[in-house]
Amino acid sequence: MSSLAGRSIGYDVSAYQVRGVLIDLGFPLVARAVAQYLTRARPDAILITHHHEDHGGNVELAARMRIPIGASDATLESLRSPERLGLHRRIIWGNPPALRTPIVRFASDALRLVQTPGHAADHHVVWDAERETMFGGDLFLGVKVRAAHADERPRELVRSLRHAASLHPRRYFDAHRGLVRDPVSALLAKADWLEQTIDAIERRIEQGWSNRAIARAVLGREDVAYYVSRGAMSRIMLVSRVRDESA
Ligand SMILES: [Zn+2]
Repeated sequence: MSSLAGRSIGYDVSAYQVRGVLIDLGFPLVARAVAQYLTRARPDAILITHHHEDHGGNVELAARMRIPIGASDATLESLRSPERLGLHRRIIWGNPPALRTPIVRFASDALRLVQTPGHAADHHVVWDAERETMFGGDLFLGVKVRAAHADERPRELVRSLRHAASLHPRRYFDAHRGLVRDPVSALLAKADWLEQTIDAIERRIEQGWSNRAIARAVLGREDVAYYVSRGAMSRIMLVSRVRDESA
């Protein structure tokens, strides 16, 4: 799924249906297409990896259709009172309506929600142990992701990446990157790179460097995400998140 604005900067997101269960729900700007899909495909239930608007943005619509929904308490809490989004997120994904309709809760042994905080405090992956398949939501996204947003906890993300790798997924589906080849190596490569990056940032924090100087030295120049998000998704934010997490 993508919006016109999203396509112009290469942003899209996927939902996956497996064992009759739809994993994630897309974003508000594609609500109509999602409603048509739900009517046609009739999933038995929906699992939501985390509260971000490109994953849980159509939860109210699904609740009104009385489709059972599985998500953590924290995710449901956030979906019931959505944060105010920055302009770039409203343009790329749209503003999600709050979840107001009471839901039928869903949980499954075959498709387990596994806590993997870091990208967001309520982030989970969906783990199909029997088929050794993981639906990773926004856990991976790529090895060297140099930009972060204000809710990220980089050290926690490293631990979650190692935990996901320890389950030994043979197949891995990323919400923004599709099928990830050799997922255990990819998850560990990201954990290693991020850990080394955090260490390099922390060394400079101890030496009294400013966030801007550290971002420039360790992560390089800001790219399009910085300008599109007006700094909300940026390299300097990753440095700032490391500083806050280590304080
Ligand atoms: Zn996300």
